[in-house]
Amino acid sequence: MNDTSTATETVPARAYRLDREHVFHSWSAQDTLRPMVITKADGSYVWDADGNSYLDFSSQLVNMNVGHQHPRVVRAIQEQAGKLCTLAPQYAVDVRSEAARLISERSPGDLNRIFFTNGGADANEHAVRMARLVTGRYKILTTYRSYHGGTTTAVNMTGDPRRWANDYGNTGTVHFWGPFLYRSAFHSETEEQECKRALEHLERTIAFEGPTTIAAVVLESIPGTAGVMVPPAGYMQGVREICTTFGIKMIADEVMTGFGRAGSWFAIGDMGVTPDLLTFAKGVNSGYVPLGGVAISDEIASYFGSRAYPGGLTYSGHPLAAASAVAAINVMEDEGLIDNARRLGQEVIGPRLHEMARSHPSLGDVRGKGVLWALELVSDPATRAPMAPYGDSSPAMNEVSAFLKTKGMLPFVNFNRIHVVPPCNISDADTHKGLDMIDAALALADNYVVGSDS
Ligand code: PLP
Repeated sequence: MNDTSTATETVPARAYRLDREHVFHSWSAQDTLRPMVITKADGSYVWDADGNSYLDFSSQLVNMNVGHQHPRVVRAIQEQAGKLCTLAPQYAVDVRSEAARLISERSPGDLNRIFFTNGGADANEHAVRMARLVTGRYKILTTYRSYHGGTTTAVNMTGDPRRWANDYGNTGTVHFWGPFLYRSAFHSETEEQECKRALEHLERTIAFEGPTTIAAVVLESIPGTAGVMVPPAGYMQGVREICTTFGIKMIADEVMTGFGRAGSWFAIGDMGVTPDLLTFAKGVNSGYVPLGGVAISDEIASYFGSRAYPGGLTYSGHPLAAASAVAAINVMEDEGLIDNARRLGQEVIGPRLHEMARSHPSLGDVRGKGVLWALELVSDPATRAPMAPYGDSSPAMNEVSAFLKTKGMLPFVNFNRIHVVPPCNISDADTHKGLDMIDAALALADNYVVGSDS
């Protein structure tokens, strides 16, 4: 197609037109899209082409933990670009070595080696490949209500509707139920019951799938996109013990939860559990340059000490990505962002959301920690009927989402849930401002609750 631009067309208008003509977007029916053109971003805010500002309560795709355009991270990328833009993985370079040190030192236990990837999905692909090679087994167990990425094995590990169209039943993945008290698969009434029953269910699944056929259990330390279900105390320890008993590798997917999001460097470390492999992406460098990776235990690393690991990427440990990771991790450390995220969760976000749950009948459940929270909207608090069907939207949720945008927020809305996932360094004032908007949006949602008189 020829470029039909005119002299009078503005830069944002041209961006929009060319997007519609040439850009193919993720997970979408292309003709339905009307993407907002963003022209500027700073800290917790972005601006559209008309100069309207939006509070970014989504951190984009829950990746921008140090906020937009953090000057130290931007400068690190600029300086690295001036020195050495790209380098093949077989060489050593200061920023890659330093990024690996910083990540492994923050990882739990003996996860002392880092294999760098381009993002979260390929990190999970490689973690699974390592587990398969080390165990000589093929099958992978993952939970329903999970997301592990868009590539073939990762999307098949995923326990949400994005798997359905990609699932030919040939990737060796088997799904089981994780703990989730509000919608318990085990009819539990307490977190203790949920924990015990979910662990028994996993053990039974392993027994009937054949323990000697299973290479790995892959779990998000806190399932994120699927609804921020913080596991009950003892669950991850229980999974660790079961995996050890059956010689199954435990893979913790920390792509969303890592690097401050859950108020810790890694949520699984905070739970006192060391997996065999841990995958990360997003917050490692706040997504300023594509980067992910696998943190590898000594045992698995030593397996590949004398035999070649059959996998690699042209951009493994890309210098611009590594430089941005070094800068982002140092920013998080120097500016106390882990503690800030934890404090925001404990003292600001959590209390406000629980208060909203008491006054809004549409708010069925509130879950989370740090700057990773989900609000579960229901049309009937008694039956817990979701405000939108699983895997879909609804007029009520569309109205809530549109309302938040008109109030000046970029929200994260998924099915019947609003997620509160701002940057780790958002100010208290901006956090309250966003929560005020959500409070007002819930008043709208209350109108859709059965028995409401409007
Ligand atoms: N794992 C989890 C828990 C995620 O949340 C995501 C992305 O949202 C991924 C994996 C996939 O990461 P990426 O989109 O970088 O491939």
